[in-house]
Amino acid sequence: MTSHLRRALVAGNWKMHTAYEEAVHLAREVATSCSDASDVEVVLIPPFPWIVTLAELVRGSMLSVGAQNCSVYERGAYTGEVAAFMLAPFCRYVIVGHSERRHLFGETDEIVAAKLARVFAHGMTPILCVGERLEEREAGQTLAVVERQLATAAASIDRSQAGRLVVAYEPVWAIGTGRPATAADAQEVARFIRGWLTERYGERAGRALRVLYGGSVTADNAGTFFSEPDIDGALVGGASLDAAQFCGIVGAARVVARAKKGA
Ligand code: PEP
Repeated sequence: MTSHLRRALVAGNWKMHTAYEEAVHLAREVATSCSDASDVEVVLIPPFPWIVTLAELVRGSMLSVGAQNCSVYERGAYTGEVAAFMLAPFCRYVIVGHSERRHLFGETDEIVAAKLARVFAHGMTPILCVGERLEEREAGQTLAVVERQLATAAASIDRSQAGRLVVAYEPVWAIGTGRPATAADAQEVARFIRGWLTERYGERAGRALRVLYGGSVTADNAGTFFSEPDIDGALVGGASLDAAQFCGIVGAARVVARAKKGA
């Protein structure tokens, strides 16, 4: 399946890091250092309180802003929650189902599916995270786990939305461990994800939707993932907090995107 129709995407998930000044400084550094990223979509995903400031700061640049999570509810008496409609004026993307949400905060596949629907309903693009735990990989259950996560999420996705979806394959054991998957293993799962969604939503959506890899991506290893035919970019945690590292990853995506375009 040709991949050159899809725009590469590199998203930096800052998690619960950065004080206000650090966030502004990091966003400025990335905006300056990644300015030549025309073949790559670059997304900064800061903590909630910095979203409005960063959206203002990157306006008119190559960068856009995303959110790490949103409420499963539309609006109402839900103390401490942030609704999708509140994010929509500022965010192009929202991460749903990150493994830290699933495993530390008890988000089920059904909750993830409901959040996905909220994000689409408010005109944003979900970055749906899927991936197996170490014991599941060791038991040979990787594809079954990913299929279960996809199948539940798919209940919230209709045919017209499927081509816009971004799925991040993030093996849980590779997140924040410095132990990335091999590019071949990541490609095998990315191909499975694209194939499964193609079967459900058709060739057109399958060709358009983007699959990212996430899990200990660095400027040094990023190119090996991006060279794989079904991997369209990366969801980056730790390395996104360092502008040079992050822009190194964006640079690798740019080089591969140009090569794929010419292919
Ligand atoms: C993540 O949190 O989505 C992630 C991939 O983290 P890291 O790059 O630090 O492994």
